[in-house]
Amino acid sequence: MSTEARASNFIEEIVEEDLRTNKYGGRIHTRFPPEPNGYLHIGHAKSICLNFGLAQKYGGLTNLRFDDTNPTKEDTEYVDSIMADVRWLGFDWGDRLFYASDYFEQLFDYAVRLIEAGKAYVCDLSADQTREFRGTLTQPGKNSPYRDRSVGENLDLFLRMKAGEFLDGTRTLRAKIDMAHPNLNMRDPVMYRILHAHHHRTGDKWCIYPMYDWTHGQNDSQERITHSICTLEFENHRPLYDWFIKELGIFAPQQIEFARLNLTYTIMSKRWLLQLVKEKRVTGWDDPRMPTICGFRRRGYTPEAIRAFCDRIGVAKFNSTIDMQVLEGAIRDDLNRRANRVMAVLRPLKVVIENYPDGQTDELEAINNPEDPSAGTRKVPFSKTLYIEQDDFRETPPKGYYRLAPGVEVRLRYAYFIKCVDVVKNAAGEVVELRCTYDPTTRGGNAPDGRKVKGTIHWVSAQHAHSAEVRLYDYLFNKPDPSDVPEGETFLANLNPNSLETIADAKLEPSLAAAKPGDRFQFERLGYFCADTKDSQPGKPVFNRTVTLKDTWAKLERKS
Ligand code: ATP
Ligand code: MG
Repeated sequence: MSTEARASNFIEEIVEEDLRTNKYGGRIHTRFPPEPNGYLHIGHAKSICLNFGLAQKYGGLTNLRFDDTNPTKEDTEYVDSIMADVRWLGFDWGDRLFYASDYFEQLFDYAVRLIEAGKAYVCDLSADQTREFRGTLTQPGKNSPYRDRSVGENLDLFLRMKAGEFLDGTRTLRAKIDMAHPNLNMRDPVMYRILHAHHHRTGDKWCIYPMYDWTHGQNDSQERITHSICTLEFENHRPLYDWFIKELGIFAPQQIEFARLNLTYTIMSKRWLLQLVKEKRVTGWDDPRMPTICGFRRRGYTPEAIRAFCDRIGVAKFNSTIDMQVLEGAIRDDLNRRANRVMAVLRPLKVVIENYPDGQTDELEAINNPEDPSAGTRKVPFSKTLYIEQDDFRETPPKGYYRLAPGVEVRLRYAYFIKCVDVVKNAAGEVVELRCTYDPTTRGGNAPDGRKVKGTIHWVSAQHAHSAEVRLYDYLFNKPDPSDVPEGETFLANLNPNSLETIADAKLEPSLAAAKPGDRFQFERLGYFCADTKDSQPGKPVFNRTVTLKDTWAKLERKS
């Protein structure tokens, strides 16, 4: 064990103790076991960071294992996306890529072994009957009438199940444990079901498929996983996993449960996420409003920020819900360090500088990232006609409004002081243009006479501006807990109808013409933005707002 390592959560404490007592010969081996029935989400990221992180910290290994025991729900599209997402998050499983289906043969042999030991039997009850016989939390179950079949009969029937002699759902193989056990998982659980379905890896080879509970622990054992980390809902499955391992007499991994990640204003159920995709409530799994890894990637989140978030929230034994603000805070912290600042105007208001010479252009120096001097500076063109944000002008400014208003002087970022001298309106009475004057002595943004202005606003030179589509995202749901709905409604009732606002013609400073899909920027005073990887065209970029800025300007805006 490395000397710098110090436990920062209860799982690390267990691992350190196991290393100290040499429980697994000093080995630590974890795995991340997704079912390829959907795309990975931020909850999976927590599990990935935990499993790969433990192995990294304590010099161990992590396997990637696809838990592909449900052929009708699984697909290679999901397999590929999961591998891409784990890699993007910054983790590597080396040559240890496995599938539960790799072990179907071995698992079948194990089942035969349990039948031979009188510990498993073929049951002819239907699914409904099986449920009925199972009892409840307060009532013991009833033995299946098929429970006492002879070993010979069980073996014969099981082989015939495998050979495809029986219809789907007509028979199961069940473990013979205890129908009165207080833990329902121990009441003769089903190990195999008959399912004549094509599997994305084994094709039509199998028409019986192992249940998850019969598969998972044995897979861990076969891979000699030392610490099998899973979420809390598997805590009462652990006695069953331990029972299988003990009856088979094979290597015993240690299961440790932790609390799954829940986040406000979003959902983490793959079934619901799939429903959003299928019903086209979002544009796909990678819609930037989705809590999926690919959605976050497209939105502009960085793997570093997601890892920092997972680190920050820690690992606990009780379920809780993390505020989305915590995730957004982690994204801001990271982008603040790495994203270059640029100027963009989302809702343009034309400004004509009356005393600026026609046809002249001035090149002003702007700092790329005040947090990172090595990012250097760039030139931003200034000319007679500019765009500013409509929000940065008020004809009758409320108290505490420090931006542009008639007769008021403000600083244009990196440029000059300007003063509004006239307002041009259209027939409807809307402000369509401001006439301003500039003070040429304030070049760079400071007055030699020491005169101060209260507001600084961003701008873009009209003739040099590039047009872009900009997509502003809000939470996908308008309730912290989207599952909180009245009787008869579903989570869809809480979808936020305003989760996407599209701005068709934002104006960007010319340096953004070189932006490549995936590039991230801070649009000064507006937030962090990322050039969309799917819809950006050469010369016509599309920007996604990754996250807003938390600044006094935004607060003032809400108050006024
Ligand atoms: P389901 O089994 O219902 O399809 P799942 O979310 O459990 O959904 P898996 O693909 O089985 O999906 O999950 C892979 C791993 O990720 C599991 O070890 C699981 O415990 C972990 N995991 C899933 N969701 C979360 C979450 N919200 N927080 C932390 N870990 C999670
Ligand atoms: Mg699962």
